[in-house]
Amino acid sequence: MSKNLFDNTKLAFELKSNNSLRKSLFLFNIIKYPLIVKFGSFLIQFFLKLKLPVTAIVKNFLFDQFCVGLNEKESMVTVKKLSKFNLKSILHYHVEGYESEKSFDECLLNTIKTIKSASKNHDIPFTVFKPTGLGPMKLFHKLALSSTLNEKEKNSLKRVEKRFELCFRACKKYGVKILIDSEESWIQPGVDLLVEKYMIIYNKKNALIYNTVQMYLKNKIKYLQHLLSYSKKKSFIPGVKIVRGAYMEKERSRSKKLGYDDPICDNKIATDENFNNALKFLVSNIKYFNFIVGSHNEESSYLLMDLMKRNKIKRNNSNIWFAQLYGMSDQISFNIANLGYNVCKLLPYGPVEEVIPYLIRRAEENSSVKGQSSRELELIKKEFKRRRINS
Ligand SMILES: Cc1cc2nc3c(=O)[nH]c(=O)nc-3n(C[C@H](O)[C@H](O)[C@H](O)COP(=O)(O)OP(=O)(O)OC[C@H]3O[C@@H](n4cnc5c(N)ncnc54)[C@H](O)[C@@H]3O)c2cc1C
Repeated sequence: MSKNLFDNTKLAFELKSNNSLRKSLFLFNIIKYPLIVKFGSFLIQFFLKLKLPVTAIVKNFLFDQFCVGLNEKESMVTVKKLSKFNLKSILHYHVEGYESEKSFDECLLNTIKTIKSASKNHDIPFTVFKPTGLGPMKLFHKLALSSTLNEKEKNSLKRVEKRFELCFRACKKYGVKILIDSEESWIQPGVDLLVEKYMIIYNKKNALIYNTVQMYLKNKIKYLQHLLSYSKKKSFIPGVKIVRGAYMEKERSRSKKLGYDDPICDNKIATDENFNNALKFLVSNIKYFNFIVGSHNEESSYLLMDLMKRNKIKRNNSNIWFAQLYGMSDQISFNIANLGYNVCKLLPYGPVEEVIPYLIRRAEENSSVKGQSSRELELIKKEFKRRRINS
């Protein structure tokens, strides 16, 4: 595979007008500074608490770069545009950190609504939910610790299981696959327990349900090995979404505060090695797994393409998907899709106030000298030159 595949900015930015390219340039130029991002996130959250009208600024500045609409109807415009480039979409009604039963039920309704719409559109093969959108974080934490549940918690668990079950039943009925996001490591074993239980029921011939595995966690190759042997024993196809992980600072500071071993790999090189080893493991066990790789890392994307070639796996093998988030790494998505690989863009949508934690995470992820924004900026500037226009 030619190592300059991702330098094709013409294709990567085909959907961007000069003005929207200028907007992206402005945004990435600002969020490359961690201090600005930290201060900006603090201000946004502070203004929201005071109920000051900050959403219009967020909408224009961050939301339009990383989200596709306030509702499903608006989001469909992007789905259609992407489909012209062999790019599929993952629609995500994005809410997180909810705490009331009412809000979990609302999230369930929205997720099922998205599943139904996805079933009518071949360009949306997957939908997604966040576990804490459907149930309380505290409960997942208790499950993770294998703690005894009191009566109230037992009832809460029944309601969460019911919501999971309704989602998966809808997926089966409408033929839409579902990805389950991963969150903090201290709740994840609780989520894994539930998801595995349903994978045994719903992932019989192919994966309908995909659990997310964060490879910045030290113990995750072992988890993949466990899934392989468990799935053989219970006769199901494990579906996994492999990511590096988005909660590093939170994980590190919690482990320091509570005095337990840091669960995150010691450095970026170790995370990259873990991630790439996971790709090798999954490709060599493609008979048993269906998987999707959520990454903006160019080296890992080249590696997966190489592994597929070496193992004589067809580019459009339906068991392997590449995925990137909307507003990031279009040079990977558009160029790989153009070669005939299966590629999805994850399209978050929802009311501005609800997606703010997601937007802040995206800004943080982009804000470091070595981070994503420098590559985005380099490519945007290259595209300005190619179009012979001023930034
Ligand atoms: C489609 C999709 C779905 C996603 N879903 C989830 C999800 O469900 N849950 C979730 O947590 N994240 C999710 N993410 C985000 C993902 O985990 C990463 O934060 C993000 O993609 C950046 O990693 P990267 O592979 O793109 O590449 P890179 O930019 O090469 O890697 C950056 C990542 O490396 C790790 N890292 C950075 N510095 C260090 C260090 N000093 N020590 C150890 N590790 C380090 C961190 O994980 C960091 O995010 C998703 C991403 C995509 C594209």
